Amino acid sequence: MKMIGLIGGMSWGSSAEYYRILNEGVRDRLGPTASARCLLWSFDFSEIERLRHDGDWTGLTARMIDAARRLEAGGAEVLLICTNTMHRMAAEVQDAVAVPLLHIADPTAEGIKAAGLRKVGLLGTAFTMEQAFYKGRLRELHGLEVLVPDAPDRAVVHRIIYEELVAGTITEPSREAYRRVIGRLVARGVEAVILGCTEIMLLVKPEDSPVPLFDTTELHARAAVAIAVDG
Ligand code: GLU
Repeated sequence: MKMIGLIGGMSWGSSAEYYRILNEGVRDRLGPTASARCLLWSFDFSEIERLRHDGDWTGLTARMIDAARRLEAGGAEVLLICTNTMHRMAAEVQDAVAVPLLHIADPTAEGIKAAGLRKVGLLGTAFTMEQAFYKGRLRELHGLEVLVPDAPDRAVVHRIIYEELVAGTITEPSREAYRRVIGRLVARGVEAVILGCTEIMLLVKPEDSPVPLFDTTELHARAAVAIAVDG
């Protein structure tokens, strides 16, 4: 079984979900006492937020590369960045190491295409919803049609992530707010919604949506299990 390297702590609550899903996935594949071989580099998220607040994307890229190199030196054979947002520098991280980086958008898009769907809504941080690095990959590499919420809804989705979900706060009014945002995307014709932030799955469940949800945390971690077990 391959060693999985996780660049995590962004936030730690979602990294804990990765750890659970990896171990459950390996158990299901290899037997009741089998568990994932993995290394976790867990950031202090307040440091990441501070750099982000200062707009220091160069510093953030350096942090991600440093973590990737440490995991590679520790024996990781495949790397995961356990946040959608920090895939903004996925190419630079991949260039800095020899081991493959499993891009979170790829298993997500594969899952959507395997379900025969093409027109999707994307929920995530403002960075993920508004910048080209994520939507572009879904569109250009995978041929998906990607819609994002309108500006007021994007602000709500973003605020709830950073004021609540990264701190582990789960509230019914916020779940309701996400339900309304999903409803408005469905009214615009999306066939599915991507939970494109690794904490949203803590708040929003399949029953909160009239269309299928594609949870990036689950899909990313499960794809890593397949690579670790099958090579
Ligand atoms: N976990 C979140 C994501 O998937 C946001 C945390 C971050 O800003 O990295 O985008």
